[in-house]
Amino acid sequence: MVRETLFKMNTIQAIRCPNCGSPAERHHLDSSGLIRTQCLICDYLLITCAETGGVVEAYAPGIDEKRLVSGTHA
Ligand SMILES: [Zn+2]
Repeated sequence: MVRETLFKMNTIQAIRCPNCGSPAERHHLDSSGLIRTQCLICDYLLITCAETGGVVEAYAPGIDEKRLVSGTHA
């Protein structure tokens, strides 16, 4: 029941997770103009706008999380 046309515009690129270094996926969602990078190993998620390069949504657990909040000890 999967319609090929729905996935035709999405390009999936194999990358390395910037958070944990594991093999991850980068989805180019041409229909919405977004680029979604996700890692199933560490739950890393990054959604950027393909046009502006701006970050729409970002979630980096573990390693990066500490870097982002450096200076503020939880
Ligand atoms: Zn990862």
